[in-house]
Amino acid sequence: LSPRLKAPRGTFDVLPEAAAGYARLEQAARGLFERAGYGLIETPVFEETELFERGVGDSTDIVRKEMFTFEDQGGRSLTLRPEGTAPICRAYVEHGMHKLAQPVKLWYLGPFFRHERPQAGRYREFHQVGAEAIGTDSPLADAEMIMLLSDLLAELEVPGVTLRLGSLGSLGARREYLEELRAYLREHESELSREVAERIDANPLRAFDADDEGTREVMASAPRLLDRLEGEDAEHFAAVRELLDGAGIGYELDGSLVRGLDYYTRTIFEFHCDQLGAQSQVGGGGRYDGLVEELGGPPTAAVGWAAGIERILLAIGAPPPEPATDVFIALADGAEPARAMALLTELRRAGRSAELDLGGRSLKGQLKQADRVGARQTLIVEPGGTAQLRDMESGEQREIEPGRVLEEL
Ligand code: ATP
Ligand code: MG
Repeated sequence: LSPRLKAPRGTFDVLPEAAAGYARLEQAARGLFERAGYGLIETPVFEETELFERGVGDSTDIVRKEMFTFEDQGGRSLTLRPEGTAPICRAYVEHGMHKLAQPVKLWYLGPFFRHERPQAGRYREFHQVGAEAIGTDSPLADAEMIMLLSDLLAELEVPGVTLRLGSLGSLGARREYLEELRAYLREHESELSREVAERIDANPLRAFDADDEGTREVMASAPRLLDRLEGEDAEHFAAVRELLDGAGIGYELDGSLVRGLDYYTRTIFEFHCDQLGAQSQVGGGGRYDGLVEELGGPPTAAVGWAAGIERILLAIGAPPPEPATDVFIALADGAEPARAMALLTELRRAGRSAELDLGGRSLKGQLKQADRVGARQTLIVEPGGTAQLRDMESGEQREIEPGRVLEEL
């Protein structure tokens, strides 16, 4: 016996019952984005490694620990995409989208890859749906983004959702604060985890995200950027909050919020679901006014988010598969298969869902199969071309005219 193979660690097959949930989510997202004037964009599943090193940031967990990076046969370093924003900004620059009317509003959905420890809601291949509005610094765009994700989660009836909101200020204004934070962290260096201590220079903000006890205690009294927003940054954040208040979207201000990518500026946000345990973040995003320029484009303000599809599906519970079949076509002993095929085709062309037994079952077995696939009616084709229509719920059966099947159903 040959040894059996399994899907790689942290990956999974989406079997037909689960595929229904993905399809429902995709449909909800498509409808929402079409109504809001967002265009679908698809970028490659792998990119040059440098895109993520520059776009996500060398000092982030994603780049340091989580990327699936490989060399192709030409010796180029490629990486399976761990996130969608850097690739979309790469495409924005590559296709000169800054020459279009701004902002360019895009949405996407697809697989992403991160080398993490697999657990419930955390996988090595997972799916995200996301959106970006590139080429605007208006607080209206921040608010619209947050509203879109809020609406998507509401439409899908994700329970127990809360929104955390913060602001990182603009890159320039942040510099001074980061120096203050570094000084504070150095003062407490011995109480910090080694990882955080090692990154005091490169990425001090990440200390807010650490989960070891020592670092957490230090961070509880650390200086917070949210309390130090000034000038245009403060005005921008106040405008976003006012718009959310006006739209009736509740949020918690969170001065310890940081995001896993270096490129965020100003508004940042996360949606959490209280049903999900440790992996509670269903989606998050924010403004990234420096990223397009970092990738060789003109200075371009932008805002976006991504949500984890598996986490949303976990939160809403797998939706029951819908009965797919209106009519099951069964063959009585001695009936002509070609006649059944012709009826099947006629029904499907007329927009009905119809199935024919492909398993060589007896009539009794076919009726059982019709029940299994949730058929409401079964058309039993008899020798000579007559047919019986059976209501699967009541068991009632009546003869129908062979030429009037569609009308009779
Ligand atoms: P976390 O703190 O849970 O690691 P993150 O900050 O790394 O999340 P983002 O980079 O903001 O997550 O990605 C957006 C969304 O994608 C998350 O809110 C989450 O729902 C989902 N997500 C991220 N990583 C994974 C993963 N490994 N498996 C499944 N879903 C994921
Ligand atoms: Mg993560």
